[in-house]
Amino acid sequence: MKKFWGKFLRSTAVICLFIIFAVNYRFEMIKSIDKFKKESDENHSFMDQSISSVNELLSILETSGTMYYKKNSRVENNDFNFKYFQKDNIYVSTDEAERTVVWIDKISSSWAVKKELDMSEVIATNYGNISKVLPEVAYIYYVSDSGFINIFPKVPKEKYSLLKDINKLDFIKKKLSINKKRGETEPFWSEIYKDPLGDDLLITRGVPVYDGNTLKGLITIGLKSDFFIKKINSNLISDFFLVDGRDNALSSRNFDTKEVSKFYDILPKKIYEKRYKLPDMQPCDIEKIGKYYVYYEQSNSAPWRVYYVTNILKLNSELLKGNLVFIAFWFMALIFLYGSSKRKAVVVDSQQTIEKLQIMLRKIDKEVEKDFLTGAYNRKGFTKITNLELDRMKRYHIDACVVMMDIDHFKKFNDTYGHACGDFVLKSFVKVVTKNIRLSDIVGRWGGEEFLILLPETDYKGALLAAEKIRKMVERETFYYHKQSLKITVTMGVSNLNVRKTLEKTVEEADEAMYVGKKDGRNRVVGYQDIMSKDKDLKWKK
Ligand code: GH3
Ligand code: MG
Ligand code: MG
Repeated sequence: MKKFWGKFLRSTAVICLFIIFAVNYRFEMIKSIDKFKKESDENHSFMDQSISSVNELLSILETSGTMYYKKNSRVENNDFNFKYFQKDNIYVSTDEAERTVVWIDKISSSWAVKKELDMSEVIATNYGNISKVLPEVAYIYYVSDSGFINIFPKVPKEKYSLLKDINKLDFIKKKLSINKKRGETEPFWSEIYKDPLGDDLLITRGVPVYDGNTLKGLITIGLKSDFFIKKINSNLISDFFLVDGRDNALSSRNFDTKEVSKFYDILPKKIYEKRYKLPDMQPCDIEKIGKYYVYYEQSNSAPWRVYYVTNILKLNSELLKGNLVFIAFWFMALIFLYGSSKRKAVVVDSQQTIEKLQIMLRKIDKEVEKDFLTGAYNRKGFTKITNLELDRMKRYHIDACVVMMDIDHFKKFNDTYGHACGDFVLKSFVKVVTKNIRLSDIVGRWGGEEFLILLPETDYKGALLAAEKIRKMVERETFYYHKQSLKITVTMGVSNLNVRKTLEKTVEEADEAMYVGKKDGRNRVVGYQDIMSKDKDLKWKK
């Protein structure tokens, strides 16, 4: 009888333990989903802000166009020289200006047209400054109803034969004819389209310009659609879809991966116009679809909808991280109950349990390609992202840089205050670095206390400046470990990554530069290309 009650109580306790676990899991899951929602919201407002700055920019350009006519400005500097290209039947401007003017089929030189050419120069001469603030702007066009197009920035000669296709763009044809009839002045968003002069997918914000009641032309700002991807910065968001009013996906992290096709049931259209069957949801709704949670929002500054997606694996890893202690105690209780039922002494080492859980977590983290300790990308994740970036660089002919960072005399933290302190220093270091880089920059842990940063679309000079800024911030910061104040410094090597080089080669070069910095006394930034040119100078002098 006694035996029966003992067994009964133990079974009840085990059941209770499982119920506690289930309730806690549910509760924590709700918290993780909430966090995903919050991060989606934060990212959303950031993205919306950049869309609204594009709106503002266009309205400034439009005002300067309208003002030009209102003020009855005098044409001052109007020396346009055009060359005729017979093969394509176009006339292209041949001066040194930072733009290209093209006439398709016929050229006109009336006084009104001269004035309009002058106006088109006035509105977008700031292209250089604009693209510094908004690098996502691919072009600013002024498309005249009288037959010319003024394009910022300048179009290279080898692309001249593509120029005549700009007039064929749907939104240009349509908007010019509609606005002539109705005199509408509202700005509009185009559908997504393939850049006639390149390979990008573009979305255009445009507005008609009038001289009194006469339609003159359209001012348009072409945006690269993939810039929205860069605005998303969250570990919890695994994907997102920006969708226009006709369900065209304007931007998405995984435009054509298998994972997405499972979820979204892609109906293949033309290569650039994949269509997605998207869930029917209300703004701010969150819905579970298969293994995914989808959060839905609308843009305030454009007629677009956004779906933020996370998967259960990401939510679980978030949940485990926050609940290590609870799970450890839960395991211990279970092992204790199970062990006593066999009337054997089970030595439960709580430290061991926690370590086992940490190994489990590391496994999960590996799958999501993040480093468990610091939250930076691990080597696999960093390599994968950089190779994707290399593909993008090939397409858009842009450069990037890689920075290798190694904490100075790191061993002393381990030796003086213990390994846990070393871990704390690594975590704190990554925090400082992350705080001082751009959203699009990628931080990876290459191994031990060596980290890499990928700086996309940054030239060598810019990368040296960025690295120096980080070096200074790290030097300035004081960290507190159990009331003990700690100071760290870091030595960095910089090398440029371009399409002719592999990531491995660039990392090797950055590493070599970093070692020169260590030899020269640490706490400094050294550029690989600088050491190389110094070497050359020396050889030359000999
Ligand atoms: P230097 O200025 O020349 O770089 O000196 P250093 O002391 O930093 O030298 P080194 O790069 O050789 O030392 C790296 C040390 O980092 C050795 C290793 O025990 C420790 N380490 C590597 N990974 C970890 C980790 O994850 N946590 C902790 N606490 N220490 C680590
Ligand atoms: Mg090292
Ligand atoms: Mg070191």
